[in-house]
Amino acid sequence: MRDTTNAIHEGYEKDSQGTMAVPIYMSTAYAFRDSEHAANLFALKELGNIYTRLMNPTSAVFEKRFAKLEGGVAAIATASGMSAIFSSIINLAGAGDNIIVASQVYGGTATLTTHTLKRFGIETKNFDVTNPSSLESLIDDDTKVIVFETLANPDLSIADFETITRIADKHNVITLVDNTVATPFLCKPIELGCDVVVHSTSKYISGNGTALGGIIIDSEKSGTKIKGNKRYSHFNEPDMSYHGLTYADLPFPPFILRILLSLLRDIGATPSPFNSFLHIQGLETLALRIEKHSNSALTVAKFLEKHSKVKLVNYPGLDSNKEKIRANKYLKDGKASGLLSFDVEDETLARKIVDNTKLFSVVVNIGDSKSLITHPASTTHQQMNADELKACGITSGLVRLSIGLECPNDLIEDLTAALA
Ligand SMILES: *Cc1c(COP(=O)(O)O)cnc(C)c1O
Repeated sequence: MRDTTNAIHEGYEKDSQGTMAVPIYMSTAYAFRDSEHAANLFALKELGNIYTRLMNPTSAVFEKRFAKLEGGVAAIATASGMSAIFSSIINLAGAGDNIIVASQVYGGTATLTTHTLKRFGIETKNFDVTNPSSLESLIDDDTKVIVFETLANPDLSIADFETITRIADKHNVITLVDNTVATPFLCKPIELGCDVVVHSTSKYISGNGTALGGIIIDSEKSGTKIKGNKRYSHFNEPDMSYHGLTYADLPFPPFILRILLSLLRDIGATPSPFNSFLHIQGLETLALRIEKHSNSALTVAKFLEKHSKVKLVNYPGLDSNKEKIRANKYLKDGKASGLLSFDVEDETLARKIVDNTKLFSVVVNIGDSKSLITHPASTTHQQMNADELKACGITSGLVRLSIGLECPNDLIEDLTAALA
């Protein structure tokens, strides 16, 4: 089946009541048939529901559907995008290891990798995602993962997938890609050679700004990279926390299996089944919405590009954009999602625009049906110093827009008034 069909049907068999909508299984735990059944489930001799911290039938539909859309082999939903990123990194790296992270990433990913993981003994090195020539020289025996975003939030640079995956494959290092802004309808990183994909489903997947969530999608390729690789010895040696089980020896994708058995068990950043239900609703209309978000964002970007007070518009869908070649190469039909940013003279004018818009809400979220406006330097990226801001392309005059599903003419009228 095609993606638009899979987004509506994959992973759900109607129950005995003929329920059309995927039911919300609000249950913490599941009854076992008898003690033998319980013992078999814990020993992985049989697969089935044990406890909602590990699995849930509503979340399972969402996971199967998302894995299909991304072209992956399995997926695990998490409580938030940040918990998906955190779990994926610590699944690979521990104290004494290092990770390589794009300079242009979401603010939370930047603070997680440069500050919080440092306290776990994990060192972070940065590279330029659009020009990854420095990447290879950063890789050593202790490098466990290369982290980047398809379409970086907020400067909207597009990853040079070809170079990054070539270098990662040469050294057998796992790539972890955040595909939140593009969604699988515009880009499929696994098809482009990446190993693991994460999303904040709080954004375009939820679509209405209602439910926080994240998801991790594994590929077949990550298992091949892990098996027998000294870099990932903890997958190839017995895990004493699971009575000596060796992840890479089992007939399951090892990356996602270890997240399930070890990290969900011990850390527990699991979604509510209710949020998984809301995300399932979101997936059903995602193809339509992402097309509309992309078309409207292009209309607004073209308007801003001609405005005398706007110095620069960052939107990869614009012909004038420095990312246009990569946009055409990696994004479906060159469509570039709903996020754009633009630069004006200084912070005073940028904040005046933010304060003067009426239809745009001042919100640090993205991917909502409602249009949103932010001044990144004073909000999402406030914790960064001047050098860090420069590396991720944020100036004091930068304004970020998340274009919603309203009529674009109304958005343009609102921006015209705010810029006057
Ligand atoms: C929002 C966002 C995150 C964090 O996700 P939460 O669901 O808010 O935890 C991570 N990456 C990107 C690109 C985001 O936009």
